[in-house]
Amino acid sequence: MYIFSFGVHFTDEKSCRLHFKEQRDKEGVVCNRCGSTDHYWLKNKWNYQCKSYKVRLSLRSGTILKSSKLSFMTWYKAIFLMSATKKGFSSKEIQRQLGLKRYEPVWAMVHKLRTAMGQRDGRYTLEGMIEMDEGYLPSRQANTITKPKKPVEAAKPRPM
Ligand SMILES: [Zn+2]
Repeated sequence: MYIFSFGVHFTDEKSCRLHFKEQRDKEGVVCNRCGSTDHYWLKNKWNYQCKSYKVRLSLRSGTILKSSKLSFMTWYKAIFLMSATKKGFSSKEIQRQLGLKRYEPVWAMVHKLRTAMGQRDGRYTLEGMIEMDEGYLPSRQANTITKPKKPVEAAKPRPM
């Protein structure tokens, strides 16, 4: 059984990336060379570029996605799964649900998400990123995830 129904906002990799970028822009992007927060957005490269030093930053850099090769959409799906149940999923189950071949990257992702969701005052909060559906704010409710009230079973399965 696949419990996943992924709302209309996140239908593909691009929509996940765009959403992630929006959240990142709200947090502010800081150049790791000069500390400037003024950046151009290089749309075709999915990079930020510092206005002073031309240093480029990927969309993932400085976030918990930075060393992961998993797609944004995979991360979003994992977040969705992890915030959609009281008990949470094991890394194994998330791997199975997402149909991923390798366990290690999934384990690393889940570990980072758990940590991030537990850090209320982390520099980079997942709060915005996790607002996939009204009511999901695991970064504020990390220790007592009581949402969702809706049944977990997907009413309308969507193709991944
Ligand atoms: Zn700079």
